[in-house]
Amino acid sequence: MSNEFKRDGSHLAYCPPVEKWEDWVELDPEAWPRRVEKHYDLVPTICFNCESACGLLAYVNKETGQVDKFEGNPMHPASRGRLCAKGPATINQIHDPDRVLYPMKRVGARGAGKWARTSWDEVLETFGSRIRKAILEERGEEVMYHVGRPGHDFIMDRTLQAWGIDGHNSHTNVCSSSARLGYLLWHYADRPSPDHANARFILLLSAHLESGHYFNPHAQRIIDGKMAGAKLAVMDPRLSNTASMADYWMPTYPGTEAAVLLAMAKVILDENRFDAAFVKNWTNWEDIEVDGFRAKGQSFEVMIETLKKHYAKFTPQFAEKESGVKAEIIVKTAREIASAGSRFASHLWRGSASGNLGGWQPARALMLLHVLTGSVGTEGGHNLNAWNKFVPKAFKVPPPQKRWNELLYPQEWPLCTHEMSFLLPHFLKEGRGRIEAYFTRVFNPVWTFPDGFSWIEMLRDEEKVGLHAALTPTWSETAWFADYVLPMGFSSERHDLMSMESYAGKWIGFRQPVTRVLRERAGEKFEYTYQTNPGEVWEEDEFWIDLSWKIDPDGAMGIRQYFESPYRPGEKLTVDDYYGWMFDNSVPGLPETAKKEGLTPLQYMRKYGAFEITRDVYKQNERPVAAADLADSRVESNGVVTKAGKPVGVMVDDKAVVGYNTPSRKLELFSKTMADWKWPEFTLPEYYRSHIHRSAQAASQGQEADDFDPKYTPVVEWPKDSRGDVYTLLPIFRLPNLIHTRSGNAKFLYEISHKNPLWVNPVDAKRLGGVRTGDLMKVHTEIGYFVLHAWVTEGLTPGVVACSHHLGRWRINKEDQVERMSSAWVDLREVGKGQWKMRQLESVTPYESADPETKRVWWSDAGVHQDITFPVHPDPVSGMHCWHQMVRVEKAGVDDRYGDIFVDTNLSFAVYQRWKALARPAPGPGGLRRPLWIPRVVRPEEAAFYIKKE
Ligand code: SF4
Repeated sequence: MSNEFKRDGSHLAYCPPVEKWEDWVELDPEAWPRRVEKHYDLVPTICFNCESACGLLAYVNKETGQVDKFEGNPMHPASRGRLCAKGPATINQIHDPDRVLYPMKRVGARGAGKWARTSWDEVLETFGSRIRKAILEERGEEVMYHVGRPGHDFIMDRTLQAWGIDGHNSHTNVCSSSARLGYLLWHYADRPSPDHANARFILLLSAHLESGHYFNPHAQRIIDGKMAGAKLAVMDPRLSNTASMADYWMPTYPGTEAAVLLAMAKVILDENRFDAAFVKNWTNWEDIEVDGFRAKGQSFEVMIETLKKHYAKFTPQFAEKESGVKAEIIVKTAREIASAGSRFASHLWRGSASGNLGGWQPARALMLLHVLTGSVGTEGGHNLNAWNKFVPKAFKVPPPQKRWNELLYPQEWPLCTHEMSFLLPHFLKEGRGRIEAYFTRVFNPVWTFPDGFSWIEMLRDEEKVGLHAALTPTWSETAWFADYVLPMGFSSERHDLMSMESYAGKWIGFRQPVTRVLRERAGEKFEYTYQTNPGEVWEEDEFWIDLSWKIDPDGAMGIRQYFESPYRPGEKLTVDDYYGWMFDNSVPGLPETAKKEGLTPLQYMRKYGAFEITRDVYKQNERPVAAADLADSRVESNGVVTKAGKPVGVMVDDKAVVGYNTPSRKLELFSKTMADWKWPEFTLPEYYRSHIHRSAQAASQGQEADDFDPKYTPVVEWPKDSRGDVYTLLPIFRLPNLIHTRSGNAKFLYEISHKNPLWVNPVDAKRLGGVRTGDLMKVHTEIGYFVLHAWVTEGLTPGVVACSHHLGRWRINKEDQVERMSSAWVDLREVGKGQWKMRQLESVTPYESADPETKRVWWSDAGVHQDITFPVHPDPVSGMHCWHQMVRVEKAGVDDRYGDIFVDTNLSFAVYQRWKALARPAPGPGGLRRPLWIPRVVRPEEAAFYIKKE
C-alpha cells in the first residue's frame, strides 16, 4: 500500500471506493454465522475530537437511519483514511445515553443543579434582548464568547465583528501561546508546519507522535520519513510512546530545552557547518546589536564571530549540567542535524513551551537551528503554517471593531499572542469589569484550566457574570454553573470548515450533519439542523445567525445585513448560502474540479468531505512581489520594499520578493520588537530558566540559590501546612486516547484509560521513604493539595514526578450530569472563605441506562483532578500559563483519602499578583498597546491599538 494520497482514494485499497458510498454492503457481525447483509450510506464529515480535523466516514444504516460506526475517509488528503482511537469513538458520543438533548434552563440557584427543558426560541429571545441592550448602551465589552475546542471560527469572527464588539476569548493561553510567540518573533506565522515525510532528521520536543498537535496526520508522515531513512530524536523528560520510537531519547530536565538547543547551535556555528548563504540572505543579521556590537556596516563574517562569542557559554557540558542529557549526545545530534541540512524538520507546540516560564525561548532556539541549517521553507524542512493552512474569504465581511476589550488583552502583557483568558476570574475580582452575557463554547474551564475554584467563585456570582450559556455537546463541570446548557452537535451533527497545516500541501475539509445531508439528498427540506439531529441538538452556525437577527430584527443596527443571503437579498442566510458562496468563490480549483463531475462546489464538498488545493507550498518567501504592489513602491535603506509606508517585500539578490511578514521582511534573528517592548536582554534567542529550575526550588526553601534572579522568577511561598520533598510536577501530558472533557462520554476510550497515577522514579521512591506502586501520595501545590496513587517507573527523569491530565472528572449530583462511567460523585464544599474541599463519595460503578453496556462497566477509578489545585502562572512575556508546578510530595496521612482536594483561592490570588509583578506593561512605542505587526485574534481597527489618553 502506498502512503501517497490520491484523489481517487486508491492509496487505501481496503476503504470503500467512492462509487459504492451510496450503497455500501457489509455483513452484520452480530448475525454471524448467518450471512446477513447490512446496507449503508457513507457520508463524509470531520472528526471533532482534536484539532487535527481528520476525515471521518459516517456509516448510516439504511434501515434505521442511524449512524452505526465511523471509519476514516480515504478522500481526506491529510488523514488519508486513517484515524486515531478517538475518531471512531465518536459513535459513543452521539449515542451517549446521558448526553444533553434539549436546551436546559436552570430553575434553582446558580450551581444548585436543578434544570428544566426550555425552547430555542426562549433562549434566543433572552440572549437577543440582553445583548441588544448592552450594544445599544455602549457596553459591548460585557458580551463575551469564550471558545474551548475551536471550529466554526469563520462565522464566529464574523458575528462578533458584525455586532461591533471585542468579545472573542479563547483557551489558547493555556495551550500554545508561548510556542506561538517564539515562532512569530522569527517569521510572523505562529505555528510550524514540518515536512516530516521528506525529512532526514526529525526533532520532536514532546510526545508529538502519539498525542500532540495534528498528531495523526503528522504521525503518519513521521513514520513515512523514518521508513525512508530519517532519524528521530525526542526531547521529553518522560519515556513516552513517542520517545520509545526514537533513535535518540533526550530526557531533558523540564525547562532546560533551550540550553540544549543553543548548545547544538553552538556546535553547528563552531564547526562552520551552517548555511552561510541562507543566513546572510534571509535573516536580518545587519540589525543585530548585542554585547556592545552593532552589525550595521560590519561584514557578515564579523557578525558570525560575534554570534559565536555570544553563544560561547552554551557548551555541551553546560547544557548537560542544566538538562541531564549527555554532552556527547548533544554533539552527535547537532552534527546529524547539520548533515540533514535543509531536510531537518522539528515540532514544538506544548511540552517545554507550555510547561515553563520563558517557554517561548525553546521555540526561538529551535528556529535558530532551522535558520542555521537553511531548512526554512524547504522540502523536508520547516514550513510556515500560513503557507499550508487555507483560510477562505467570505462574502460581505464586517469591518473591524472600533473597541478594545481590556479583559481580553490587558496592558500588562503586550506581547501575548492570545487573550489572557485564564486570568478572567482574577480580572473580575480586581474590578476590571463585568460580563453581561457570557457564552462558553465546548469549554470547561472549571476542570481544564488552572485554579478552577476561582472560576467557580466567578461563575456563581451573578454580579460578575449576568447570564451564562454553556454551548456544549456534553455535560461538564462548568455547565453546572451556567444559566443555560445549550446542546450543540458532535462531528456528524454540525457544519464547520476546517484546514490545518498537516503536511506539505494545502487542503480544506467540510464537517457536516450527516443525517440532514442524507435526508435533503432524498428531497426533504429543513430550516434548522436540530430538526434532524437527536433531540434538539443544534449547531452554532445557525444559532449565531438567528441570534443576530434577534438582536437586530429590522436591520436598523447594521448587524442583520451580514446575516442575509448573498443570493436572496433581505432573506436570512442559510448554511448552504454561507458555505456555498465560499466554495463557489474562494477555494482555488474547487469549482473546476466539481464541474468535471457535474457537481456544484457545495455538492462536491458534501460528497467527498475534503479537497486538496495545492502542493506547491515551499519557499513562499521567494515569490516575486506582485506587479500592482511594485507600482509606486520604494526600496528603503535596509532593503525593505514599501508601498504607502507599508512593507510589501524585500530585495534579495537584487530581486523584489515577498519575504516574511516581519518588519524586516526577513527571518528575525534579532528582534527589535523585544527591545522596543522593554525586553532588550532577549533580542536574540536565549535560555530563560524556568520557574521550576533547581535554583528556584532552592530559593523556595530559603537556601542559597545559585543563579536565581527574582527579577525573572517569582519565589514560591509554600502554604503553612505543606510538607515533603520538593519536586517538579509534569502535569501536561495526556494518554493518547483521551480528549479533554469530551472523552467522558466515550465509553470505548474510558475503558482503555481511566487512571492517572503519580509517576515516580525509583530513585525518588526510595528518597520518599520507600514508596511502592499503589501507595497513597499527597502532592502539595502553592495553593492546596491533591491525593492520588503512586506508580513507580523508570520512564521518567529523577527529580520529576508526573501526572496525566484529562482524568479526574467529577460530578456533584449522584445520578446525573457528567457521565457516571467517567466521573466520581463528590462532596464539594467551601469550608471557609475561598477554602474549598472536595472528597470523592463514590467512584465509578456499573449503572442502568438506555445503553445496556453501562451495566458492564468494570473499572472503578475516575482519576484525580490535579489542574484545580494549580495557581495561575502568566508568563511575563508571552502571557502563557506556565503549567509545570513546583510541588512538595509526601506519603498521604491517615486522614487523607484517594481523590481528596483542597484549595485556598486567597493564596491563588496572591500567586497571581506575584507573577503579574514580573510583567513589563504597555505602552510601547507611540503609545501602543501591542506591536501593530503582531497578529491579534479578531483584530480591531488600528486606532484601537493606541491607548487613549484620559
Ligand atoms: S487525530 Fe484522532 S481525534 Fe484528532 S481529528 Fe484525527 S481521528 Fe480525530
